[in-house]
Amino acid sequence: MNSKIWLSSPHMSGKEQDYINKAFETNWIAPLGPNVTGFENDIQEYLTDDSLVAALSSGTAAIHLALILLGVKQGDEVICQSMTFSASVNPIVYLGATPIFIDSEKETWNISPEQLEIAIKDRINKGKKPKAIIAVHLYGMPYKVEEINNIANAYNIPILEDSAEAFGSTYKNKNCGTFGEISILSFNGNKIITTSGGGALVTKDSTIKEKAIFLATQARDKSAAYLHSHIGYNYRMSNVLAGIGRGQMEVLDKRVKARRDNYDFYSDNLKEIKAITFVDEPKEHFSNRWLSCFLTESESMREELRIKLEESNIESRPLWKPMHQQPIFKDYPKYLNGVSDELFKKGLCLPSGSNLTDNELNRVLSVIKTYFNVC
Ligand SMILES: *Cc1c(COP(=O)(O)O)cnc(C)c1O
Repeated sequence: MNSKIWLSSPHMSGKEQDYINKAFETNWIAPLGPNVTGFENDIQEYLTDDSLVAALSSGTAAIHLALILLGVKQGDEVICQSMTFSASVNPIVYLGATPIFIDSEKETWNISPEQLEIAIKDRINKGKKPKAIIAVHLYGMPYKVEEINNIANAYNIPILEDSAEAFGSTYKNKNCGTFGEISILSFNGNKIITTSGGGALVTKDSTIKEKAIFLATQARDKSAAYLHSHIGYNYRMSNVLAGIGRGQMEVLDKRVKARRDNYDFYSDNLKEIKAITFVDEPKEHFSNRWLSCFLTESESMREELRIKLEESNIESRPLWKPMHQQPIFKDYPKYLNGVSDELFKKGLCLPSGSNLTDNELNRVLSVIKTYFNVC
């Protein structure tokens, strides 16, 4: 049997261990320390604007804190892109608030400006203005930032930018992770760079950063005794894991290039197959191509192909199953146009790691070509 080809596996630079050794040598084995501060500074420098970063234990934790800091409370409504991973939505429910799902547009697969505006008007008519909009850059492809911002501004609703999959992507030459009132990043094991598990909250407001760190460290008031006037969380990043992050930051741009090369390899080599469609980047959208995805002609074709790959020990996956189709979320309000249902039926994510070898890429290609009877 050929060795397993994973969808997206961790890819170390070799520098991580040095930062981890430093943490051990200096006994900073804690959820704070020089690697945490250094990692936050590395990310701030990468984002190149006036963004401030708080390193946290996960992207999900970052979304949870961001919603709290945007004032979301029990009974509030929060708009969220339906085509996403469940971690974008779960924190809305942690807070006792109600998710309102919005369908996608076809060019980027992200939140549809038309459906967003319809939803906002309808929610206001029904008596409640949404408290926040969670917009996601799916698979690294930036959403329509300008259109979505314009709508959010017109109704004065803050955007929580879920950039978990889009570190290294840009829109109009500006970095994803800088477009929200608050933005979040993820460093889970499958993301473009990883700390094994981790995330970050990004803001331009220093009091938001301070409050995020306060809430993430059990909300201890400034006092010698343990004094609490807020409910706190244990969401800070470990100084050991932040060491992995520092090593990863040194190669982020290389990782983006490698993933974009994977996408070009697949799309160039499969372009003669009419049953497969790749979605190009719209002008001004630069994707890190976290995952290389394409659309087939039908759900059965997508499944057959996925099983063929699996039989060759190659992991591929359908696109995210939209949240409005999930057993746990299906009864929440939704504003649909059919796009995400269609994408879910036809779409497949291919192995996309930055550490794939030419041999592995060719193995994937050959299974797909064989399925379509082309050589
Ligand atoms: C991975 C991911 C998250 C959650 O990040 P974790 O660090 O795994 O908690 C949130 N949103 C999206 C779109 C993701 O892909």
